[in-house]
Amino acid sequence: MSGIEKLLRKNIIDLVPYSSARDEYSGEDGVFLDANENPFYTGVNRYPDPLQHKVKVRIGQHKNLHHEQIFLGNGSDEGIDLLIRAFCEPGEDNIISIKPTYGMYKVCADINHVDFREVLLSADYQLDKEKLMQAADNKSKLLFLCSPNNPTSNSFFRDDIVFLLENFEGLVVLDEAYIDFSQQESLLPVLKDYPNLVILQTLSKAWGMAGVRMGMVFAARDIIRSLSKIKYPYNINKLTQQYVLERLNTSSEKDQWVKQILSERERMRARLSKLSCIDEILPSDANFLMLRFNSAKKVFKYLMDQKIIVRDRSKIPLCEGCLRITIGLKNENNMLIRALEMYRSE
Ligand SMILES: *Cc1c(COP(=O)(O)O)cnc(C)c1O
Repeated sequence: MSGIEKLLRKNIIDLVPYSSARDEYSGEDGVFLDANENPFYTGVNRYPDPLQHKVKVRIGQHKNLHHEQIFLGNGSDEGIDLLIRAFCEPGEDNIISIKPTYGMYKVCADINHVDFREVLLSADYQLDKEKLMQAADNKSKLLFLCSPNNPTSNSFFRDDIVFLLENFEGLVVLDEAYIDFSQQESLLPVLKDYPNLVILQTLSKAWGMAGVRMGMVFAARDIIRSLSKIKYPYNINKLTQQYVLERLNTSSEKDQWVKQILSERERMRARLSKLSCIDEILPSDANFLMLRFNSAKKVFKYLMDQKIIVRDRSKIPLCEGCLRITIGLKNENNMLIRALEMYRSE
């Protein structure tokens, strides 16, 4: 048994996946009478490539990975859900994670009836690695981490992540959705050193493609194969594949966006730190700021009345009183700054 088979659910090991018509022939030209498609050309009359070969090769060039180390999902959410479905036996296995963090890990665990064990971050928003290890047992198949973390906006210490990689007996899923904004290095370059490391990234943030829905999972080939085996055959549609292939050629534009967003973030921090209605601005390694108010609810409503929509995180542990503010365009950020400057708490 390979390392990964010890963690996989037995029904997934035994599963015979759906074999799509296009699995048997990967050439581009031919007389395609195999898939009951409409033969009249519209650009989308043919089924898309189920394994998104071209897109993966292109992403592989960007990330210095082999295409077989890449899984593409309908947003990161699909990767999260498939990892749980491949590795966690409902009602039996469990998942370890942190609190607070991105809400989808728990929602997907709940949908799949998998026990989700949350370990509170330390007071300085770092990993409590001893408590995380104590929460784990021989039914703990996945450990979800998110760095930079949403909503706390900071990155975790790399040594702590490495400690967990070396000690946790299941897969460590590291969500790097905000890595493009981070001072910290991605763990992607050490993927080959850790057969239990799974890295999630997305096109939704720095790449500016939240609307196309594409998330990336990077991991050892046997893990990627397991996810591909259980996904819906055509999970990434043809329009998305074409569009992403084009946009991947514009990484300098993405880099320019990131630079501007980071400079705006620091400008916002400087301006907002002067305001008496803000008690604290959490250290941020992402494209958003967590602002602590003593009257978050009121400020939230005050901003909403002016059609400035922010995210109320004020009831979340360690984020009490915080509103989460995404860095926008310069004039949008100025509108927020001006509104908060005008805010008077009664
Ligand atoms: C925004 C975000 C994502 C991206 O999700 P998609 O489904 O790829 O849009 C993933 N993880 C975290 C923590 C996020 O905040």
